[in-house]
Amino acid sequence: MKTIIEPFKIKTVEAIYFTTKEERKDILEKAYYNPFSIHAKDVLIDLLTDSGTSAMSSNQWAGIMQGDESYAGSPSFFRFEESVRSITGMPLIIPTHQGRAAEKIIFTILGGKGKYFLSNTLFDTTRANIEFSGAEGIDLICDEGKHPSIPAPFKGNMDIVALQQTITKIGAENIPMVIITITNNSGGGQPVSMQNIKYVRNICAEYQIPFFIDACRFAETAYFIKLREEGYSNKTNLEIANEIFSYADGCTMSAKKDAFANIGGFLAMRDLELAIQCRNLLIVTEGFTTYGGLAGRDLEAIAIGLQEIMDEHYLQYRIRSIEYLTNKLIEAGVPVMQPAGGHAVYIDAKEFLPHIPVEQYPGQALVSALYEHGGVRGVEIGSLMFGKYDAEGKLIPAQLELVRLAIPRRVYTQSHIDYVAEVIIEVFEKKDVIKGLAIIEETPLLRHFTAKLKIIE
Ligand SMILES: *Cc1c(COP(=O)(O)O)cnc(C)c1O
Repeated sequence: MKTIIEPFKIKTVEAIYFTTKEERKDILEKAYYNPFSIHAKDVLIDLLTDSGTSAMSSNQWAGIMQGDESYAGSPSFFRFEESVRSITGMPLIIPTHQGRAAEKIIFTILGGKGKYFLSNTLFDTTRANIEFSGAEGIDLICDEGKHPSIPAPFKGNMDIVALQQTITKIGAENIPMVIITITNNSGGGQPVSMQNIKYVRNICAEYQIPFFIDACRFAETAYFIKLREEGYSNKTNLEIANEIFSYADGCTMSAKKDAFANIGGFLAMRDLELAIQCRNLLIVTEGFTTYGGLAGRDLEAIAIGLQEIMDEHYLQYRIRSIEYLTNKLIEAGVPVMQPAGGHAVYIDAKEFLPHIPVEQYPGQALVSALYEHGGVRGVEIGSLMFGKYDAEGKLIPAQLELVRLAIPRRVYTQSHIDYVAEVIIEVFEKKDVIKGLAIIEETPLLRHFTAKLKIIE
């Protein structure tokens, strides 16, 4: 088999800026060891997120020029609606300015005190919006998903037995929704199988609980199903995506992921009553129902991006490029989540830095080390992001201490990725000198975005 190549050529380029290690040491200290506080121009390879960082195609840029900015009934909206419908099959489609805006709307309506939302793993903004409404979120990840180093084909699956038990314990009347995240971003970018989606749908149907999909990376999951699940190798990505959504009552989506857009999102559903409530709230908080906080040009970029993402060559290249970096790290003995996920490489920071206890945030310490050593920016997905405190103020750590290196779509070439591998491997060889961190300032919700930390000497 020949090398799987980037299925595009480059028309426009953007310079990246080089800094010295000394400069980065200083930058890091001034940013209080929080990568969100580092200026992007001080980053060489930016793997903070794959969200909104995609390179758009010439077709998307052409679509932007055609964007119609009519307040109501813009043709750009109808093209957007048609594109979303061709993939999700959902009759009711509501644009929002981001995924979290869709979450805010749906959880404001369905959430509240005493309610529980069950998931494989809720993403941070999803959990925050649930908790902000007064409700609680419960993650029910399958057993394989709890062990980063043990490969399994669908580690994003929901634990079906736990789902059934949790519904029985809490009572279906207190569960307004089960929401499954595909791919499971916080759980290592791992896919969910069609079988699992079907099981969850059946249980939800039995208890009459609405079943939603957090669809941010649906195309990557569709491709994993094609590769790994029996009976799907001859289906197209679109057919697989259509089947996934056919089981759901609705979905939330951030178009900043698998729609190659720099901004945008949507809510889609089948229930008209619910859609009416959502649209009412949309008008108050986002905008009129045919633009929902977006410009017409953004709707065009999303409409086109959603079609482009279904391309077989693109998805093959995408999944292969993540696997390429993952394999390089595995060969060097770096502990990573296995197998490779769809949009990011996840390093197991607990294994990488066994001398740093979870109370000293090994993931954040590793993020800092990667930046200092090579100007590579990643993000901690561990106890800084998901940790809580008990009544005595003692840290209740997250299940995993991961560092996520998310790969922006169509942005970096293979030599950029080779460089990233070199940086990680060099840091791994010198890991004993890395020190733990302590929080000196934090907020109650989504603290990882703004927390300030210092090195524990
Ligand atoms: C990014 C993301 C969201 C939130 O979307 P935004 O556009 O960033 O608001 C929700 N769920 C998952 C799984 C995500 O990756």
